[in-house]
Formats: sequence, C-alpha cells, structure tokens
Amino acid sequence: MLGWSINLFRIRGIQLALHGSFLLLLAYVAWEGWQSDGLLGAAWSVAILAAFFTCIVLHELGHCFTGMHYGFGVRRILLMPIGGMAEFESIPREPAKELLMTLAGPAVNFAIAGLLWASFGLPETFSFWSFSNYEASVTGFAHLLLHWNLLMGCFNLSPVFPMDGGRVLRALLATKMPYVRATFWAATVGKIFAVAAALIAAIGFEAYLTAFLFGFIFFAGETEYRAVLRREREEEHWREVMALFQSGRPPESPPLLETPR
Ligand SMILES: [Zn+2]
Repeated sequence: MLGWSINLFRIRGIQLALHGSFLLLLAYVAWEGWQSDGLLGAAWSVAILAAFFTCIVLHELGHCFTGMHYGFGVRRILLMPIGGMAEFESIPREPAKELLMTLAGPAVNFAIAGLLWASFGLPETFSFWSFSNYEASVTGFAHLLLHWNLLMGCFNLSPVFPMDGGRVLRALLATKMPYVRATFWAATVGKIFAVAAALIAAIGFEAYLTAFLFGFIFFAGETEYRAVLRREREEEHWREVMALFQSGRPPESPPLLETPR
C-alpha cells in the first residue's frame, strides 16, 4: 500500500498520481458524509474533498510551472491524504530561483482566495480554525474554499523545512552561506518549530492529526537535509578526483596490472 499509486492524467506533461492511501481517505470522507446526511451528505463531502485537492494540485502546479520555466523537469505530482508533493528531477541551487519557485505555490492559494473574495464576499462568521459553519449552498461552498485556500497558503508558509516557508528560509540563508549550511539551519529551525507546533496541537487543541503531520514533516526535513549532504559529499569527492587528474599527479596506489621489473 505504501508504494502503490494510481496514475490519473497528465497536465502539460506532468503526471498526476494518487497515492493508494488516498482511497482510504475518500472512503472515510464518503462514509462520514453518508452517516450524517445519506447520499446527499456523501456527495457533499466527496465534492468538498475533490475541491480541496484540486486547490492542492493548483498549488503544486504553481511550483511546477515556475520550475519548468527555469528548465527544471518535473516527474509527477503525487497526492497523499496529508497533501500533495511535486517530484522534481532536481532542485535549483540558485537562491533566487528556489525562492520564486517556492513562493509560486502559496501565491496560487492567495490568488484563488482573492478571486473568491471578489466574487462572493467574505463569510459572515469567520473562525480561522473551524470549517464547520458553512451551509450547503454555492456561496457556502465558495466561502469554504476561500477559507481553505487562506489556511493552505499560510500553513505552507510556516518556517518548517521542507515545507514552502522552510524552503524560503533556506533560499534566504543560502544568499549568505554555503547551500549545505543553509539547509542545515533551515532544517534545524524547522525541527524546533515542528516539535513546538506538534506539542501545541496535541496538548493545547487535542488535534492529534495535526500533531502527527508536524511529526511527519520533522522527519521529512531531516531526510532532505541528509540527501543534500550526501550529494554535496559525492560532488566534493568528484571534484577532488578531477583536480587530481588535472594536476597530473599519479594516483596514490599503483595500478595492479603494472609490469614488475
Ligand atoms: Zn508548496
């Protein structure tokens, strides 16, 4: 189940795929809707889920199209129950490009929220943390999506590497220090924020799913930092090998097949 995914369709060459576990979320949401309001409830819940994930795809496309503009290939966009992930063939090392590529995602959410605000106005009662007070109507649906996009834009900008906010921090740090050190510090700041956010979510709000999500991001940050470190060490190794060849010095150990005299 963990590695299993379903390919949906391609958008400008980018494969959109659903992680297997997404079907569990779909089934759960439909079942919960059914419990509260029968077939109509199930349809409403599934429509909301589909709309939410459409916004997630648009967010990821913001990253992808900006990246493609700079010549970076995108393998696919994978949708998981916890959100979406664009898989790039490589990530730019130039801070300015990474910054623009990163900001393009949340910018899409704020643009959608702005459009919905202009078309449908703001909801009468608005609580940033609660999605429950929206009626089943076109306006209610629009307000729900407006709320979702605001939340998604802000959440992604929190400085928890490798989320967008953490990447922005890395890009800013990378203008002042080497890329690996910038990644280290962005990941470290991210881990502190992730632990704090997980504790606040679990103890303060009993929001265990959010706490779990921050736990997941904590390890994702560490994994990405290690990947950057590994690549840097490999590149350093090859730089040393190339420098050795260019300097004309013989290799330290003689070739095994040297003819003995
Ligand atoms: Zn993003």
